[in-house]
Amino acid sequence: MCGIIGYLGYREAYPILINGLKKLEYRGYDSSGIAIFYKNGFFLCKTKGRVSELEKKIFSYKIKIKGTIGIGHTRWATHGIPDDINAHPHVSNSNELIMIHNGIIENYHKIKIFLLKNGFTFVSKTDTEVLVNLIEYIKKKNKLSLEESVRISLNEIVGAYSIAIVEKSNPETIIIAKLGSPLALGINEKEFFIASDPISFINYTNNTLYLKDGEMAILKKNKELDLRKIINNHKLNPIIKKLKINLKEIEKGEYKYFMLKEIYEQPKTILDTLRGRLLIPKGIICIDGIESNKDIFINAKSITILACGTSWHSGLIGEYLLEKLTRIPVEVEYASEFRYKNPILEKKDIIIVISQSGETADTLAALKLAKKKGAFVFGICNVVGSSIARNVDAGVYTHAGPEIGVASTKAFTAQIIILVLIALKIGKYRFTINNNFYQSFCKELGSISEKVNNTLKVYNSIKIIAKKYFNVNNFLYLGRGINFPVALEGALKLKEISYIHAEGYPAAEMKHGPIALIDENMPVVIIATKKGCYEKIIGNIQEIKARKGKIIAIVNEGDIQINTLADFTIKVPYIIEELSPLITVIPLQLLAYQIACIRGENVDQPRNLAKSVTVE
Ligand code: GLU
Repeated sequence: MCGIIGYLGYREAYPILINGLKKLEYRGYDSSGIAIFYKNGFFLCKTKGRVSELEKKIFSYKIKIKGTIGIGHTRWATHGIPDDINAHPHVSNSNELIMIHNGIIENYHKIKIFLLKNGFTFVSKTDTEVLVNLIEYIKKKNKLSLEESVRISLNEIVGAYSIAIVEKSNPETIIIAKLGSPLALGINEKEFFIASDPISFINYTNNTLYLKDGEMAILKKNKELDLRKIINNHKLNPIIKKLKINLKEIEKGEYKYFMLKEIYEQPKTILDTLRGRLLIPKGIICIDGIESNKDIFINAKSITILACGTSWHSGLIGEYLLEKLTRIPVEVEYASEFRYKNPILEKKDIIIVISQSGETADTLAALKLAKKKGAFVFGICNVVGSSIARNVDAGVYTHAGPEIGVASTKAFTAQIIILVLIALKIGKYRFTINNNFYQSFCKELGSISEKVNNTLKVYNSIKIIAKKYFNVNNFLYLGRGINFPVALEGALKLKEISYIHAEGYPAAEMKHGPIALIDENMPVVIIATKKGCYEKIIGNIQEIKARKGKIIAIVNEGDIQINTLADFTIKVPYIIEELSPLITVIPLQLLAYQIACIRGENVDQPRNLAKSVTVE
């Protein structure tokens, strides 16, 4: 997690770093700091809290930091609590080296003991301070240049990192390196921009180079980029690409929070995900990654889906869709569990990995393990050029545009669209769905964006419900079949941004435990759209009512039966069951959002969370 930033060129570094950090805050925001070369030394300032706190602190010094070289960091703590001391940048014992770091140094403890024995001292609890001092130790002992010391030190490191490091006595150089955590470089004539995510420098340049794992770059004022392999110092040919980002997509516009903007973008993002892939009149679905690996999918004996968080929920929906439409058995696993259980995989077994950022550390590690065992890995991610996208055998982008709100919304619906398309495509190949069904399904897909748009109109009713229940301590979410993962997702959204305890359950499972929690203070959100065991769900509603629980039911327009039973009904358009999660999740996203707003929480930056989980 965390955001790192840097600048080396001819412009004032301070505004570039501060504004860049603000754009990176979605990655971590428990503390932040900068170091800028100023008056023959590095001006260093760091503080607990958000980037705005850092700005205030610097403002209180009443100095204008003039300098054209600097680095900055917004932290998501892994080692040591979020405070001023553990905030980055970290400085080496001699005060010579200053470093920022994203990731985890897994063998930091061993190195720390070694350095302590060699007279080093530590002020922070971070693994980062250990690395910067290891670099200093190697540099001094062997009288090496900074770049060579960084390179040799990194070869000693187990874990994940992207780093940027500067040296007081040689201030016109920044060394950067990457393994496991993302790092991009923006390049103009006579200037370099460093960032975990290019959205923070896209205002200045779109010439972008994504460092690959195991690469480092030596950036020097007025010099060409020097790209090398960390392992053997071999020079590499930089491949610089023109990055396309629509600036409007990374601004909030009229919305108070990115999350609300992203919820409202869904009718459009769904169209973007479908664009070029679904040709409705002809009922043709084009997905290159599936077409060029047709035989692998036709002959599949099983599919394993690996993901974390919200993507894991879309994976569960994918399981339902794939099993129903292709009759291939599907398992969905948490990537973090899969990789540590010595999974049974055979050559050409199919793995589908799902990740919005394409940088999720556990998913990336699980992917690499699966590939090592000979599996065929297919990826679904949103961020173009991300680590997962680069490492899979084939894959498909969701094209939902940048998702900035920490609580995922539009990426979730985009992932479901992709899973629907994949299931249909493979089902057609395997003759497990007939042509009429396929054609009418494609037609329904064509109407989904408009139906999601109509569903957004429930926001006014949601506001009333949120006002009534924003203060409760617990929520229960129930759904059945393909809408059970939606219940999980609804509960997750509420937990993430409002800090209310919430659980998602298959409606029938309620009797095996959660029903004990139900009393007059417990709101139960129940997805009760037509089809999907409608009659059974009515039975579940009766059971909750009998225990005085409060029912908030998501029903189809025109529903009469549940209307008379529920405390609140939220009416959504009807769509075939396979596509219903795309509709039923919308009120749940809005409910979580609205409750968090009433509770006065920072919706886009919930406590303890970060957008892309790039540490294990
Ligand atoms: N492990 C480092 C720390 O705890 C970096 C964490 C991050 O990626 O923000 O400070």
